[in-house]
Amino acid sequence: VRAIGIDVGGTKVAVAAVDANGRVVARAEFPTDPARGFPRARDLMAEACDNVLSLAGWAAADLAGIGVGCTGPVDPARGTVHNPHTLPTWDGCDLVTPLRERLGVPVTLDNDAAAAAVGEAAFGAGRGADPVVVLTFGTGVGGATVVGGRVLRGAGGAHPEPGHLPVLVDGPACYCGGRGCLESVASGTAIGEAGRRAGLADARAVFAAAARGDAAAGQIVARAAEGLAAAAWLIAHAVLPERLVLGGGVMDEHFDVFAAAARDRLAAATMVPGERVRVVRAALGADAGVVGAARLGATAAG
Ligand SMILES: [Zn+2]
Repeated sequence: VRAIGIDVGGTKVAVAAVDANGRVVARAEFPTDPARGFPRARDLMAEACDNVLSLAGWAAADLAGIGVGCTGPVDPARGTVHNPHTLPTWDGCDLVTPLRERLGVPVTLDNDAAAAAVGEAAFGAGRGADPVVVLTFGTGVGGATVVGGRVLRGAGGAHPEPGHLPVLVDGPACYCGGRGCLESVASGTAIGEAGRRAGLADARAVFAAAARGDAAAGQIVARAAEGLAAAAWLIAHAVLPERLVLGGGVMDEHFDVFAAAARDRLAAATMVPGERVRVVRAALGADAGVVGAARLGATAAG
């Protein structure tokens, strides 16, 4: 099964030709540049599809489908984007129809966290396990649950938002209206902001200072790890996944401290077999988005 995966982020769009084993055969990318409007990006997306097909030596007729994972919220049923925060000029735009008409194959849209989760579950750190929960720690905290190879959708097709699980009762107020959300204590943004209040430049500086034994920095990292441990506890009791996959910029370098906190907490569970939830590091890196989007595109048709 051959497919194209498209990963639309706030800063760049990545397009890849992906084979049946989840391998990226050819890739292209361009800046999202939302200030320049949707029609430009729509045309560049179609051109990039043509480019990766030609680089891979494939024809459009070889494709099982195209999947688009877009920074959300999105409406998968209508194929439209509704993200006034990072894609203001794309609000309500249809990503699916132009690609389907131009390439003549089925096109599926989902949010980027769902695409990355499907990629990790099918070809990465979740391979062979079911169900799989994937949490991605970057600017925010995204996540999704994959059951039987399919991403779990909620009421009306909408996605749950595990980044807004409340994990610290006395935690900071979150823009969602809640308090002590996982995202507001453990995202790169949250760690960086807490660091600035302690006189540190950014999240990287916080981790570096913590490693040198700086008490304030150590406390910020400990609080983020504590937040993740509480989230792992909630997820284990609500979903009991076989694997909890942790990815994103924060986990690329600091997985061990977060995984240790989550494992310690899970080991203390008495109502569920917490030790059966394996906490693992994401394996696909930045490719999770395009690989998962391609998988969504290939499987939606079948
Ligand atoms: Zn929140």
